[in-house]
Amino acid sequence: MECDFYHEAQEGQEGKKEFITTCFFGVIIIFLFCCSPAYADRAERLAALEKRITAYTINKEYKDDTYALVVVKSALESIREGSGGIGACLVDSTTGEIVEYGRNRQHSPYFRSDLHAEMDLLNKYEDRVKKMNDPEDFNKTRECKNLVLVTSVEPCPMCLTRIINSGIKTVLYVVEDKEGGMVIRLDNLPPFWKEFAADREFRAADCSAELRQIAIDLFNFSSRGFAKNRVKKDGK
Ligand SMILES: [Zn+2]
Repeated sequence: MECDFYHEAQEGQEGKKEFITTCFFGVIIIFLFCCSPAYADRAERLAALEKRITAYTINKEYKDDTYALVVVKSALESIREGSGGIGACLVDSTTGEIVEYGRNRQHSPYFRSDLHAEMDLLNKYEDRVKKMNDPEDFNKTRECKNLVLVTSVEPCPMCLTRIINSGIKTVLYVVEDKEGGMVIRLDNLPPFWKEFAADREFRAADCSAELRQIAIDLFNFSSRGFAKNRVKKDGK
């Protein structure tokens, strides 16, 4: 009798385990079923973008086409790594040589709120050249002879002030960012930054319409949804 009771209890436990296992795998299957179309769609759209970039031939009619292609390639790499679709490079305008590359790495390999493409680029450049301060001339560390920063999207406020602080005089962007770009809002900079930026040039890169469209499409891959519908807790 005791033995039967023991077996029944054991069978009950087994049944419970089986039920939990079935539910667990059921949830996983439902999750995969719901999410895989989105992943497949994303992978397809990304593959299509890559195809357009790979198929693109530099158009010599546009003098910044080469660099625009370089930065969109970096933007694609950013997306592949899980970050936003923006790339940047630093060009020595006397030789035309690219001396540094940067890309958005905000989420790869872990979250770093500062790592927009232009910030990543300037970190690499400044860590490499290691300019030392000259107490006699604070502007010496900011000498960036003939360096032109090219980015796939107009710099945001954070990046624009960083670029101004770095001393770089010329910035080219492949596409404007009407919602978040700071170049078109230069007049809204605080007086110090506005004066500091007075000898700089910020302008759209001279590149083809196709490359501009690719840069927009790469940028739109990253969602800005996280910033929407923010309300202060006290409602003020
Ligand atoms: Zn930025």
